[in-house]
Amino acid sequence: MPKAIKKIGVLTSGGDSPGMNAAIRSVVRTCAYHNVECVGIYRGYEGLIEGDFQLLDARSVRGIINKGGTMLKSARSKEFREKEGRQKAFRKLSEASIDALVIIGGDGSFTGAMIFNEEFDFPVIGIPGTIDNDIVGTSNTLGFDTALNTVVDAIDKIRDTASSHNRLFFVEVMGRDVGHIALNVGIAGGAEEILIPEEDLGLDRLVESLNRSRKSGKTSSIVVVAEGDKIGKNIFELKDYVDQNMEGYDVRVSVLGHMQRGGPPSCFDRVLASRMGVKAVESLLEGKTNYMVGLMNGAMELTPLEMAIKGKTKINLELLRVSDIMST
Ligand code: ATP
Repeated sequence: MPKAIKKIGVLTSGGDSPGMNAAIRSVVRTCAYHNVECVGIYRGYEGLIEGDFQLLDARSVRGIINKGGTMLKSARSKEFREKEGRQKAFRKLSEASIDALVIIGGDGSFTGAMIFNEEFDFPVIGIPGTIDNDIVGTSNTLGFDTALNTVVDAIDKIRDTASSHNRLFFVEVMGRDVGHIALNVGIAGGAEEILIPEEDLGLDRLVESLNRSRKSGKTSSIVVVAEGDKIGKNIFELKDYVDQNMEGYDVRVSVLGHMQRGGPPSCFDRVLASRMGVKAVESLLEGKTNYMVGLMNGAMELTPLEMAIKGKTKINLELLRVSDIMST
């Protein structure tokens, strides 16, 4: 018979993403609803090791659903990667009588949670908070939708200046290993080409395609490039290559960077965060552990953390085809 859960800790770990605050709020209020105490753990695993805890009640999380970032702060902790660090964390949790943890973060944070669960048989549930949408077991990670809207807004603005000056813009978006952001914003922003890590377009084909679109009457172009695209050149080298191999375009680069992670969460992410927080807490109360909550076919589902970490998301081939047709 698993120990009854009377106190739940919540932390945010790894890179921040919009919607983390809404998820914290949901975890805290679901705990309050079920008469379970909730403790906020500051600075991810770093704060867990140091015992940087604060009791949170339903009113402690007022006014944060619309705020980007995370009120609990996030951090990366080297110490938690070592058994000794995790031992310290377990001690702090025992001292504070915390019975279970909700971890809001990416695959690294989930790996740490899984190891911690194995070592100390400590109940954990993950909420996928990352803008990259690179976690198996959910159609959307928390923050992905907001990041898409932020980037599309930026591309629309870049388009204004591109078309006023007949410019070709390379716009770099986040996505070191996956091209979900690039592919979606590329289609929504009307990009002429989209370079993603999953597909190697090749430099010659890129130039050929840009030349083709110019011949068809286009006077400006936008190429969306995921950070980890496979062409093997960074975005500034890409600019140099196109400068040298194409005439008539004024080529510019825009690296969007960390602004993609900020801003108020979209309506979709706020609702998703609220649903995920409820599911995470209620799953723990039902005795479930070592799972991630996710959105699958419109419903809240649980996926074993191990599967969420090890699986690799696939690029949507239908979207790739749509983007090809749209750039005709
Ligand atoms: P993002 O997707 O934004 O990078 P993430 O959760 O993957 O988020 P990481 O920096 O990879 O971010 O991991 C966050 C923290 O999780 C690390 O700083 C570390 O404390 C812990 N962690 C990651 N991998 C392990 C591991 N193998 N063992 C123990 N702890 C780990």
